[in-house]
Amino acid sequence: MNYIPYGKQNISQEDIDAVVQVLQSDFLTQGPQVPNFEREIADLCSVNHVVAVNSATSALHIACLALGVGKGDIVWTTPITFVASANCALYCGADIDFVDIDRDTYNMSVSALRLKLEQAARDKKLPKVVIPVHFGGQACSMKEIYGLSKQYGFSIIEDASHAIGGKYQNEFIGNCRYSDITVFSFHPVKIITTAEGGVATTNSAHLAEKMILLRSHGITRDLNIMLNKNNNPWYYEQISLGYNYRMTELQAALGLSQLKKLSVITNKRHKIADYYTSLLKNLPVVTPFSISESFSGMHLYVIKLKPEVKKNRADIFNYLRQANIGVNVHYIPVHLQPYYLNLGFKVGDFPEAEAYYNQAITLPIYPELSYQQIDYIVESLKEALL
Ligand SMILES: *Cc1c(COP(=O)(O)O)cnc(C)c1O
Repeated sequence: MNYIPYGKQNISQEDIDAVVQVLQSDFLTQGPQVPNFEREIADLCSVNHVVAVNSATSALHIACLALGVGKGDIVWTTPITFVASANCALYCGADIDFVDIDRDTYNMSVSALRLKLEQAARDKKLPKVVIPVHFGGQACSMKEIYGLSKQYGFSIIEDASHAIGGKYQNEFIGNCRYSDITVFSFHPVKIITTAEGGVATTNSAHLAEKMILLRSHGITRDLNIMLNKNNNPWYYEQISLGYNYRMTELQAALGLSQLKKLSVITNKRHKIADYYTSLLKNLPVVTPFSISESFSGMHLYVIKLKPEVKKNRADIFNYLRQANIGVNVHYIPVHLQPYYLNLGFKVGDFPEAEAYYNQAITLPIYPELSYQQIDYIVESLKEALL
């Protein structure tokens, strides 16, 4: 069996043609494709504003800045995520802390969040922003988290890097009904790709305007927000300190082409997940738990070894890798990374996240994965568990 990666982009001839067309056009950057891509995502998600950038990491950074995160502020996220969900707070000079996960969904636990908020209110150390992550594409309990945000006065950034095409309460994730800003990633392992790229969505014109400035040096040509009402054609103003986080026309054209098959991709991912779940029924593993109010983007298919499995996770993992199966682990809890241990976090700080981490294995999932390959993966897993 050839090597089976855990995730893989899906690139068609239409995608290639769309990118080549941009290469033959007048604009490689700052042309019409990026605004078109933003409009398509706004339509998909039913959200007012979309700001495209060069990665979800950049989107998280400018989302924090737009919400005013700075030195002395506190940001909370989940330990079971990619490091970027936490790093964005540190870029702004803020302090980061984590909320433990729910045992079933592996998302941020609402009850742990509630308890931590009660304590933080007593200590006068409430977070300015909370960043729930829709792990594997399944939405967090946003309605409840939103309720707590009103009670305790924090803002919400949804890290939906895994979740484009997914739904919460029958509406597409990204509509920001229960958040200030939502972020998507288009890295090649995610659901659809722009090679590198991401977007931030929001219903707030004010936050969108800030993020648009932040992604391009803090420079504007918009007379409405310039300090000097100078309308000479060469004139522009830098009115804040921004970055170069722009998305290119090539990336946006690829994204526009990929968006056309989003529902096909998501449905295929669900078919693969359902097939895995049916095959794994009688094995000593926990298959993904799905909550009825969420339709997952199905970015990841994570299994957890049940306590009766006597073999250790690393041996099972290595057996599968030896069989050319690109299993993975999502994620090493962020607070256990050396950089974060150095900030003062310790083993034992978030016991649910750590217990999950010790038993989790991510099986391959991507649209081109065949049923034959899935059969092989499950057979190999059976052998590994023996
Ligand atoms: C991939 C990912 C990111 C970062 O996305 P990039 O586009 O690679 O910067 C952030 N958060 C989560 C949860 C991710 O999976």
